[in-house]
Amino acid sequence: MSEVFEESTDLRDELVRPHPSGKLVCVACAHRCKLADGARGVCFVRSRVGAALKVPWGYTAGVAVDPIEKKPFFHFLPGSRALSFGMLGCDLHCDYCQNWFTSQSLRDPEASQRAALTTPETLVEAALEHRCAVITSTYNEPLITAEWAHDVFVVARRAGLATTFVSNGHATSEVLDYLAPVVDAYKVDLKAFDAKTYLSLGGKLQAVLDGIRGLVERGIWCEVVTLLVPGLNDGDVELEAIAGFLARVSRDIPWHVTAFHPDYRMTDPPPTPAATLERAAAVGRQAGLRFVYAGNLPGRVGGLEDTRCFRCGTNLVRRTGFSVVSSTLAGDGRCASCGATIPGRWSRGAATNPQELSTTPARTLES
Ligand code: SF4
Ligand code: SF4
Repeated sequence: MSEVFEESTDLRDELVRPHPSGKLVCVACAHRCKLADGARGVCFVRSRVGAALKVPWGYTAGVAVDPIEKKPFFHFLPGSRALSFGMLGCDLHCDYCQNWFTSQSLRDPEASQRAALTTPETLVEAALEHRCAVITSTYNEPLITAEWAHDVFVVARRAGLATTFVSNGHATSEVLDYLAPVVDAYKVDLKAFDAKTYLSLGGKLQAVLDGIRGLVERGIWCEVVTLLVPGLNDGDVELEAIAGFLARVSRDIPWHVTAFHPDYRMTDPPPTPAATLERAAAVGRQAGLRFVYAGNLPGRVGGLEDTRCFRCGTNLVRRTGFSVVSSTLAGDGRCASCGATIPGRWSRGAATNPQELSTTPARTLES
């Protein structure tokens, strides 16, 4: 285990709650680990020390400048740069993880454990130096390192940067309350609509569904991604369930259906064909979603990389892959043709056009 990882910690108590047994409950993610003194959680990165938790703080295991479209956010400052930072570890263990080198570093001896000391101020200075409008907590699962992201985002907000989370959404109401004052936009991976599939990845579907609703209720801009893995989650029934759930939360949630390619421990399924993405997009529109995008196959999915006005159909933002080719959207997000307001945040400093919560209650697994 690297020294930097072991030593770059802080003692914090914002995301702990007492338990009648005398243990402490970590509420940073939906595992809600009950910890006796000295015990580590499922994620391996948080452990109890007395009345507090020792949490990761003050290092990164990866920093890069990415287009915001790579996160992906399509309705949040399109065309801008995002300084992206990650730490080590994840509360899930997906066999197809594209970031396994850092996310699984505490479970898999073949993964990386390299980390470098840093401070919130250093990261924010780097973002400004690279002309980024956004700073993003990503690569590993940011919920399990929420205090670090929180502290970076406080400094970033002061410097005029927008702040985003790229997460599996396996959250709790407590961690969303903690993050809401400092996070502008949040990308959730909704990996399936099957509780057993989620269990096999190490998580709970209902927690992710509650997380998506909780984000929209708190006014945090939310985009959802589903990586379509042939044979795992690409059947019509499952796609209809995902799209139906999202539309019942808000028709304004952009849904990105993205193509799988064999990675890490999942090498058997073939890559997702473009036709599957197009079929999923049709299911999404049929369910009432206003914005459905197809990703990971640039230039091969018709207009499914572009943002069109939900009312008049005018093509407002043209994209290829992670590049914005052209945009006619004004800063206030109004369609130049019909004047409809497109939900999202379209320019720096402009207030977000919020997602409208549906009045229909979102179906839960139990109902
Ligand atoms: S972040 Fe999640 S997995 Fe880690 S200790 Fe807290 S509840 Fe457990
Ligand atoms: S939740 Fe994301 S980071 Fe974690 S293992 Fe799964 S794909 Fe990787």
